[in-house]
Amino acid sequence: MDKTTISLTLNGLSDTIRNCQKCVLAQTRTNAVPGEGSPNSLAMFVGEAPGADEDIQGQPFIGKAGQLLTRILKSVKIIRKNVFITNIVKCRPPGNRNPNKSEIDICLPYLEAQIALINPKIIVTLGSVPTKCLLNRDEPISRVRGQWFLWTGGIKIFPMFHPSYLLRNDQTTPGSPKELTWRDIKELKRELDLLKSERDVN
Ligand code: SF4
Repeated sequence: MDKTTISLTLNGLSDTIRNCQKCVLAQTRTNAVPGEGSPNSLAMFVGEAPGADEDIQGQPFIGKAGQLLTRILKSVKIIRKNVFITNIVKCRPPGNRNPNKSEIDICLPYLEAQIALINPKIIVTLGSVPTKCLLNRDEPISRVRGQWFLWTGGIKIFPMFHPSYLLRNDQTTPGSPKELTWRDIKELKRELDLLKSERDVN
């Protein structure tokens, strides 16, 4: 598929998500949040679910946690609009609770379709919910963050802390979540630069 077709298909998928009524979250959401970013992205970032700001505006990661994610990306010169950002579940669970298994199972085909269309080389899972869902592992995020896992179709999964966790734990001492995230984003940038140089050669 060429870039224009992928973009058109992604837009069509986003419209389907905006009108989706497949699970109970449709009854309490203001807007579904399909995700946004480049259809040619080497990396997709996947959080757990939209929060209050995202629910109101229909865009992913635009509240305080999203602003922090943008700053984290910028710190290593990753331009936010050049990656694709979305969530496992596209509608906000009431009170910002975690999405439950049934909601995740019903919504997951949308994420799978986005992954199939974008065909990223890397999926960065933000926090424990998307990490457990995609990797099917039960370890806490603190045990798996900063490691590479090979996934379906040769895609690499790279778990990181969710930025909302960093807002609640903002010390920067060695071994703190923020300091570990600084290490992780540099590692991600290293891998992305490698992939880009390989793509440019081929
Ligand atoms: S969370 Fe997913 S499955 Fe549920 S209504 Fe929203 S888009 Fe549909």
